[in-house]
Amino acid sequence: MRDPQGFALDTLAIHAGQSPDPSSGAVMTPIVLASTFVQDGPGVHQGYDYSRAGNPTRTALEGCLAALEGAKHGITFGSGCAATTAVLLTLKTGDHVVCGDDVYGGTFRIFDKVMKQWGLSSTSLDMSDPAKVAAAIKPNTRLIWLETPSNPMLKIFDIAAIADVAKKAGVMLAVDNTFATPMLQRPLDLGATMSVHSTTKYLNGHSDVVGGAVLTSDDALAERLHFLQKSVGGVPSPFDCYMVLRGLKTLGVRMRQHVEGARGIAEFLSKHEQVKRVYYPGLAGHPGHAVGARQMRGPGGMISFELDGGLQAASAFLKALEIFACAESLGGVESLAEHPAIMTHASLPAEARAALGIGDGLIRLSVGIEDASDLRKDLETGFAAARAR
Ligand SMILES: *Cc1c(COP(=O)(O)O)cnc(C)c1O
Repeated sequence: MRDPQGFALDTLAIHAGQSPDPSSGAVMTPIVLASTFVQDGPGVHQGYDYSRAGNPTRTALEGCLAALEGAKHGITFGSGCAATTAVLLTLKTGDHVVCGDDVYGGTFRIFDKVMKQWGLSSTSLDMSDPAKVAAAIKPNTRLIWLETPSNPMLKIFDIAAIADVAKKAGVMLAVDNTFATPMLQRPLDLGATMSVHSTTKYLNGHSDVVGGAVLTSDDALAERLHFLQKSVGGVPSPFDCYMVLRGLKTLGVRMRQHVEGARGIAEFLSKHEQVKRVYYPGLAGHPGHAVGARQMRGPGGMISFELDGGLQAASAFLKALEIFACAESLGGVESLAEHPAIMTHASLPAEARAALGIGDGLIRLSVGIEDASDLRKDLETGFAAARAR
């Protein structure tokens, strides 16, 4: 595809960044495993000299992801955490970050256990009220970092309003768009400086790759991130780039199915007598419902809920499930269920978990694209086991 302008997302997901291989006519992007590329003379080459600096399969993926996010530049990494780290490495000692309070546990760990010792400070807060974000900005703040929908409480933050705060303060806004994907939400259109992804999740979609990406239209930031990608070296393998490219082709159909399945399950859970509370932005009673409806094309495939009966009931529930695998991660075609307090969010201090509402009865679902009534039956089996415990 020569110019991605003017095409719809479903078309971009299949064609952007890619064109038939000129050497063979192969329709699908080749996996170029070469670590080095021949030069006609010193410094005279076709744009690639060494695979850490640049690789054709990676270039195709970066072009596709950038087009999907409406960004000029795509920079990919060996994991979502490597992408996050590269963004933080654009800052320097003494800088400050304002961070959402309910971010991915690994993101919190990078701030708390890695960047802090290099002199980067951060303030975590609930960003539901943009005025509070503005109030948290200090003279040395350089970046606002948020996730929406957040993990695992599925809070919704108003990207456009927080982008306004960022612009007025002259700081960058990074949105971790892993949960929504560009099919449901495009942070750059709403004023964010960059969209950050764990491509491990929905973008690849088949739970068989770990990867990350940053998408931005800021030329200077992109240049710095490309420099860090090459210099620090957290690059994805050509094979993994190919896998994500392949997964992206069905992103549109998968996301529509994830949303449809999750909507039905959220309704079902909200009527169930063993469920104390459901967190899903698609439900009218969710505090972020209106903002979510405005900035998203669908509420996504992630649901959290509080099961009656605490840890014992939650354990019995998770053990009894047959289709939902009890596992960390999310965004694959298969359904997963997990216990945030013990699994994904164990790296958060207990007080922080309590403040967020991550209790012993909280269960997080990644609703896959299996048959909806089979999924519901599976959850019924879990509820029965929790009752019988
Ligand atoms: C998984 C995840 C990450 C980290 O990505 P990895 O690919 O596991 O390094 C970051 N943010 C969110 C929202 C995630 O779900």
